Amino acid sequence: MDQHFVKRSDMDFLNRSMPGVLLYAVIWPLLAWSTELYLFDLTFTLVFACVFTGISLLRFIHALSTRFIYKHYPDAWRTLLFFLAFSQAASLSTLVVLMINQSAYHQWVITALLILLTVISGAASSLAPKLKFTQSYLALLSIPGAVACFYSDEFRYLVPLFIACWLYSMFSAQRIFSEYLRAFVVEHKLKDHQKELERLNQTDPLTGIYNRHYFDDALSIQWDLASRSKTHLSILFLDLDFFKRVNDQHGHLVGDKVLCHAANLLKDKAKRKSDMIARYGGEEFAIILPTTHHHDAMELAESIRDSLASQDFIEGDVRIRLTISIGVNSTQPNKQQSCLNFLDQADQALYQAKAGGRNCVVSYLETVCDISRVT
Ligand code: GH3
Ligand code: MG
Ligand code: MG
Repeated sequence: MDQHFVKRSDMDFLNRSMPGVLLYAVIWPLLAWSTELYLFDLTFTLVFACVFTGISLLRFIHALSTRFIYKHYPDAWRTLLFFLAFSQAASLSTLVVLMINQSAYHQWVITALLILLTVISGAASSLAPKLKFTQSYLALLSIPGAVACFYSDEFRYLVPLFIACWLYSMFSAQRIFSEYLRAFVVEHKLKDHQKELERLNQTDPLTGIYNRHYFDDALSIQWDLASRSKTHLSILFLDLDFFKRVNDQHGHLVGDKVLCHAANLLKDKAKRKSDMIARYGGEEFAIILPTTHHHDAMELAESIRDSLASQDFIEGDVRIRLTISIGVNSTQPNKQQSCLNFLDQADQALYQAKAGGRNCVVSYLETVCDISRVT
């Protein structure tokens, strides 16, 4: 969560600071022109216009470079962002202090203060995602002006205004940061809940493997992928033999444990990251094997059948011999074939495995005619 918060607050801070960047670039030239300050002192006007606009330009370039720099050098990115923003605030404070200190500029002091107050109120509300930075930024904008006013006979009456404005902006920034943090935590929790809901929606609660709903979607996706990449796709359909007897003889609770035992065995066997194991129905399972040839799918099916048959399920005094029947189908999907037909063929192979005496693997391809029965 900490890492997430830092990244999120970096990006929010950047986005929220962009209107301020624009404001710094245009407000001083506008005011110098509308108050005719440029006629009085063109050099002074131009120097500050260049400083404000220049730093705004650098901040704009910095913002544009975010996606190249941030990923590899987030600390350098952040340091540069803070440095540029502080430089702009320091320039504005310098401008205000110069105007207060030099009587020739006194008629423009109120104009400069208007700019300062605008920037302070904007910063308090929009830069709050970085509270410590914002607090220092507000101090940098407020304190030099307050000190300059304190030493100026003409503007000493403005000291309380500066202090009130500073305290109020600090209080606002703190409150907005708390709200921002709360909204972030709520959003984070909602995302976690949503992920958990998605997981529950995809998972069989008893065995923890995927459910049929997810299986159907995954098969259709794998079908399209294999069709596009012209690779093989295999599928296993598995059904525990005489499972009803397990329930009848040992009860449903033991039956449930047997289902978990079978699911765990399937997980142990189909280990590739891309293999997808699902509980298809009561005691039926299905496995999607992307990029797997028929021969390898048959080998895996045989290995599953053999493992289950050779390891009895043991729970306390209960010892149950389990067997499983498996239908296998493989193809290289194309547009003429249908995914549902492919599934149905695997089901037909499973049906043949049952009809052929159970505890066996039947391939639809080798058909439904060639039963590799193991006794
Ligand atoms: P076959 O060899 O022909 O597959 O016979 P079978 O007994 O395995 O098949 P059948 O379809 O007759 O019985 C399946 C049983 O699986 C019936 C049902 O009560 C049981 N079953 C289905 N879901 C669950 C479950 O979640 N827990 C338990 N304990 N039993 C379940
Ligand atoms: Mg069965
Ligand atoms: Mg069944």
